Amino acid sequence: MRSVQEHQRVVAGLITARPPAPVPLAEALGLVLAEDVDAPLSLPGFDNSAMDGYAVAAEDVATATEDTPVRLPVTQDIPAGRTDIPALERGTAHRIMTGAPLPTGATAVVPVEATDGAVDTVTIRASARAGQHVRRAGEDVTAGTTVLAAGQLVTPAALGLAAALGLGELTVIPRQRVLVLSTGTELVSPGVPLQPGQIYESNGVMLAAAVRDAGAEVVASPMTGDDVDAFRETLLGHCGQADLVITTGGVSAGAYEVVKDALGGPVEFVKVAMQPGMPQGAGSLDDAAGTSIVTLPGNPVSALVSFEVFVRPALRSAMGLPHAERPRRSAVLTEDLTSPRGKRQFRRGVLDPTTGTVTSYGPPASHHLRWLASANCLLELDEDTVEVAAGSRVHVWDLR
Ligand code: AMP
Ligand code: MG
Repeated sequence: MRSVQEHQRVVAGLITARPPAPVPLAEALGLVLAEDVDAPLSLPGFDNSAMDGYAVAAEDVATATEDTPVRLPVTQDIPAGRTDIPALERGTAHRIMTGAPLPTGATAVVPVEATDGAVDTVTIRASARAGQHVRRAGEDVTAGTTVLAAGQLVTPAALGLAAALGLGELTVIPRQRVLVLSTGTELVSPGVPLQPGQIYESNGVMLAAAVRDAGAEVVASPMTGDDVDAFRETLLGHCGQADLVITTGGVSAGAYEVVKDALGGPVEFVKVAMQPGMPQGAGSLDDAAGTSIVTLPGNPVSALVSFEVFVRPALRSAMGLPHAERPRRSAVLTEDLTSPRGKRQFRRGVLDPTTGTVTSYGPPASHHLRWLASANCLLELDEDTVEVAAGSRVHVWDLR
């Protein structure tokens, strides 16, 4: 049997970064910059007012106090967005709004609160030092400065900065494009009445969500019955748009194992020493692009745990994303547990962060989806462990 680490290496080797590409700002959130971003312009782009008030020459209001106000004629009104820049004559004031360009000749802004707010002749009750309430061109960003670094995650604030600099696109490591393909003749789409022996298809929506949650993109999530020709047709119909194909089902030891039957050659089917998730496969398709494929077992718990262990970290690494691996914690077990010798067991667990304890949640078998849905961690028991006593420290993968 192949070890968990060895299969992790094989899958990681199949999932490689796409070449950097420019994407519109609206699509860049959560991706990683492939290049430094140099500011094409300065911010602010021009001297402007930091307050609603009056642009003045500071000397003209030097003596202004509450008791000895200064009165100045208001000769211009400058709202934000005014594009001509009138000059201020000494002995006058311009009414000015926040963000509006400061007129040449003005050296300070008196806030409206220190005046009577008049539009013809303004009474000013406070002096102003030169530079007061003025935002200088370039004091935030000087044109040419590197403002975002390659490898940085694109956050809402980074997008705001890029937009403020007039950039329409950022060059990022693109999302991995993933095809999620569910197999099983027993599967029916939710909403269709079930015949005896049929079940609702659940891996498709679950894994598509897990792919998106990992930061990647889903190109499609179709399902197909256990028929080799139908499977190949669905696969080849969609895989052209994908960097990675993930299948579920059809890889264990029974008959009608459609994935195994349809894919030979460069796809290797192996047993991995883990529970759940023993039957696994990985390799490349025989399409023109040699698209990578990872074949997960069909049981929903096995499928999602396998995705967590093999696919999610590889997808995140290939996109340069931080936290490729789930945070690992150590917690105190609240109960006695057993684990099969020679296999790495991943139990569903509930981690209580306030007490630092973990309790296994639901049976270890791989069809217990209900428990998986309310677990917040995977409890990892290594290959050599067969019994763990309550009170022992164990490793958990924090899924929160
Ligand atoms: P298989 O590996 O194809 O033998 O599937 C193992 C178990 O998982 C069987 O009980 C299947 O019915 C179930 N299963 C496989 N694929 C899905 C799916 N997409 N949704 C729900 N259950 C599935
Ligand atoms: Mg099946």
